[in-house]
Amino acid sequence: MKSYRKELWFNVPSRRGFINITPQVEECLRESGITEGLVLVNAMHITASVFINDDESGLHHDFDTWLEKLAPHEPISQYRHNTGEDNADGHLKRQVMGRETVVAITKGKLDFGPWEQIFYGEFDGRRRKRVLVKIIGE
Ligand code: ZN
Repeated sequence: MKSYRKELWFNVPSRRGFINITPQVEECLRESGITEGLVLVNAMHITASVFINDDESGLHHDFDTWLEKLAPHEPISQYRHNTGEDNADGHLKRQVMGRETVVAITKGKLDFGPWEQIFYGEFDGRRRKRVLVKIIGE
């Protein structure tokens, strides 16, 4: 069995944002030389997510609006976590959107369903943060 590991770095200039990271994961897959197996992609920070959905700008706006209703950033004082930090909402948003995704690799390609793409979700940005890509297979 072969295995491959890489860290992808992101620095979202705003507090929140979504990035389609499918091209970077496909590049990792090419580098790995693995054609049959599994790829795990996970956020390495507890205020960021990796998830699969459709690549539509309207949808990203809808996610952001929905998450702000569930866990509004302000007022900051509403969260017990925010004693010196202001990112309690980021922890909660990450929990809803998930930590990681796993995708099957078949014949050297990410074996997606229709419209599926991999996204990095940032909920406390303006600093460098990492995503782990781990690929195992043959
Ligand atoms: Zn925190």
